[in-house]
Amino acid sequence: MHTVDIVVPCYNEAEVLRAFLEESEKTLSPLGDYRFSYIFVNDGSRDETLSILRQMSRENQRVHYLSFSRNFGKEAAMYAGLKHTSGDFVVVMDADLQHPPALIPKMIEEIEAGHDCAAACRMNRKGEKSLTSRISGLFYGISNSLSEVKMPQNAVDFRMMSRPMVDAILKLSEVERFSKGIFVWVGFDTVWIPYENVERTIGASKWSFKSLLKYAIDGITSFTIKPLKLIRNSGLFLFVCAILYILITLIKTLIMGKDVPGYASLLCVVLFLGGTLQLSLGIVGEYIAHIYLEAKDRPIYILQESDIASPEITPDPRKEKRSV
Ligand code: UDP
Ligand code: MG
Repeated sequence: MHTVDIVVPCYNEAEVLRAFLEESEKTLSPLGDYRFSYIFVNDGSRDETLSILRQMSRENQRVHYLSFSRNFGKEAAMYAGLKHTSGDFVVVMDADLQHPPALIPKMIEEIEAGHDCAAACRMNRKGEKSLTSRISGLFYGISNSLSEVKMPQNAVDFRMMSRPMVDAILKLSEVERFSKGIFVWVGFDTVWIPYENVERTIGASKWSFKSLLKYAIDGITSFTIKPLKLIRNSGLFLFVCAILYILITLIKTLIMGKDVPGYASLLCVVLFLGGTLQLSLGIVGEYIAHIYLEAKDRPIYILQESDIASPEITPDPRKEKRSV
């Protein structure tokens, strides 16, 4: 019998958790050759998510949960969940039923056929705002043209992986995580399973325009240093142009005397150089920010509570006193 751990990051998902478990159990319980367990990760939710998880884990011994001390983001939640798995296969999926549990049996088939990873990809982006789709298209275009790590545009964070692949992912312990890229970076043989995009029916998406933009910039700067090389090359080009322009102006002044007109061209050059410098500093700053965050070496998440015995949780002495 094989064991399968299902990691589910949850942020304010109280409304959907029971429906998620019910639907998953309905699909998975007929698969008698596999023992499933769920690891829900409460990412600092402000609704009833944690109390529902406590209840579900009391009612169902296959349900386990981890709970963070605050919201650390989906990437941290996925990492924590993966770290607490021990199954032969591991599934990562969203709690909001946008990742249909009905795909899991197909994923198992593919993994049993010898693939290391079976990953879902959307056939369409039905129901998504057109601005979001366009920005996402632009991000994948830029990222894939700059980086060696090519990310499929329609990939979602719903996949089943073999133990060796999960162990490889856990070796990448960077603080600023970008899982879509990490999944590709670690390699392993991945087979894609297309599915019809499902709109969220319960609760709301946690992404804002600002958080998507940050995610996209992190995605590019985590996997390529080509923007830095681009700055270096364009800087070199501008430097050569400037030297030529200075020489021409000097020679012209020496031969033809002082030339007062030229205000407009001067202003254009100053503005252009100022803008280029500002942009370059911004890009360099992005990379420095990454170095800064990694150098601090802070933990990716802080675990406050779990039904799984974990050395990561510092016991609260007040609770211990009360129970004595
Ligand atoms: N999520 C999380 N932490 C966050 C934001 C989201 O754990 O800070 C979880 C969320 O509960 C859900 C999954 O990540 O299970 C995907 O989130 P969402 O549905 O908001 O994203 P979308 O489907 O819109 O990309
Ligand atoms: Mg969703």
